[in-house]
Amino acid sequence: MPDWVAHLALGFLAGKAAKVRDISLVLAGSLIPDLGRILEFLPLSPRDIMALAIPFHSIAVSALIAGALASLVFRKADLKYAFSLLMSGAALHLALDAMMMYTIGGVVPLAPISYARFSAELFPSESFVPAMVLSLAVACYLAYKKFKKA
Ligand SMILES: [Zn+2]
Repeated sequence: MPDWVAHLALGFLAGKAAKVRDISLVLAGSLIPDLGRILEFLPLSPRDIMALAIPFHSIAVSALIAGALASLVFRKADLKYAFSLLMSGAALHLALDAMMMYTIGGVVPLAPISYARFSAELFPSESFVPAMVLSLAVACYLAYKKFKKA
């Protein structure tokens, strides 16, 4: 699994490319599938934590969390907008994780219907390459914006 730097960088770049006004919602959404890591703080066995955390990397559970967050924070008029941005970030997270070789949980896009894992196996899950490439792309974007203004 690429670290959160890679997920945030991808959310930032996608949000900027799509000219999203509230990019913070995309960034928040890009961390939703890893909310299962909170379970690591509970006094459970590693096997139980893994069993409980795996469904967080699914479309349905991500949508459930994005919907819950949107409905807690936003008015009814902004609910669809907030949900779509949060879910866009979550979908980017799932897409990036799906490129990794899963050594831990992997992506289970159809959970809880099916726990079949999906992986394109492009990078080892502990690889820093995605985080470095995406961070460099963000730095290039920010430098371009700064020099464009000057
Ligand atoms: Zn993840």
